[in-house]
Amino acid sequence: MIKFLDLKAINLQYQSEIEAAIKKVIDSGWYIKGKAVEDFEINFANYCGVNHCIGVANGLDALILIFRGLILQGKLEEGDEVIVPANTYIASILALTQNGLIPVLVEPDETSFNLSLDRVKSKITHSTKAILSVHLYGQLAEDISSFCEENHLLLIEDAAQAHGARTEHGKKAGSFGIAAGFSFYPGKNLGALGDAGAVTTNDKELAKLIGQLGNYGSEKKYHNSLPGINSRLDELQAAILDVKLKYIDEDIIKRRKAATYYSKHITNPKINLAKWDKETVNHVFHLFVIRCEQRDQLQDYLTVNGIQTVIHYPIPPHKQQAYKAWNSFSFPITEQIHREVLSIPLSPVITREEQDQVIKVLNDF
Ligand SMILES: *Cc1c(COP(=O)(O)O)cnc(C)c1O
Repeated sequence: MIKFLDLKAINLQYQSEIEAAIKKVIDSGWYIKGKAVEDFEINFANYCGVNHCIGVANGLDALILIFRGLILQGKLEEGDEVIVPANTYIASILALTQNGLIPVLVEPDETSFNLSLDRVKSKITHSTKAILSVHLYGQLAEDISSFCEENHLLLIEDAAQAHGARTEHGKKAGSFGIAAGFSFYPGKNLGALGDAGAVTTNDKELAKLIGQLGNYGSEKKYHNSLPGINSRLDELQAAILDVKLKYIDEDIIKRRKAATYYSKHITNPKINLAKWDKETVNHVFHLFVIRCEQRDQLQDYLTVNGIQTVIHYPIPPHKQQAYKAWNSFSFPITEQIHREVLSIPLSPVITREEQDQVIKVLNDF
């Protein structure tokens, strides 16, 4: 069977370095808020081209804490509208509703699956205060930072799937707006061996606030100046991430090579492939997503032929039970995307033989 994602094989590549990093943490006797987190925060901020990185417990918390921080700074208030793509992972939406902000769902651009400026403009009202742009599947969304600046809108990025995605000028995911949330969930392109996440920002005050909020609102131990939560990146995960960060650009090259190979050889007219820029590293292929009108039959056919696939995502946020009040909303593009998309196996460790097998089964369908 060809696995959708072989996490064991991915981590095996760095096994001895990861084991040494883990041992170092164990031997240090210090497991929360220490040297490993500090080092990783500096290295990841440098990698993204920003001044500050704050490690947190996961990607959802990263987003929740960004909006909480912006509210505490007085830059946002409860009831403000935030534009967000209708086809995103539910975490983007939860980060808004958990802060009393109003998500304004917008249909994505059909070819990139991301927000486009035209569609954003059509949804702006007097209550719009921010835009949460998601770099879905690993592809940078259109750069709307100058539009946001001109219109006094805050731009926040959900970069959970896009570590290292960059423009032709080298500007990276996580550096376009006031702040960005990253996830290091094991299956993400930079994956921990458990839950982990981070915020990147150039705003020094916001960075400090988020660091405090994620640590019980305390600046000094047992002095709690804000009503915070416990959301910290731990030393073990930070040490592991620091090892893997060194190899992320090599991994991105491997992912893009595999994606190019699929693009060249999947020729079945029933299957639609996304168009992407082969010159610029603006897509890091967290996922390789194909579209097919007979998606469910295609998925069954692949399963029968020993190929594991995943749907990202089967149900859009506005159709989820968690958001019952929105269930009657209509977003035809988003709904069609959710009916047609299928993610096929792609990772830095996928072999040519495995890809050939996937291609053969897809073309035979
Ligand atoms: C994974 C993901 C998140 C949440 O990250 P967790 O670490 O699982 O909390 C948020 N947004 C998007 C787009 C994601 O893919």
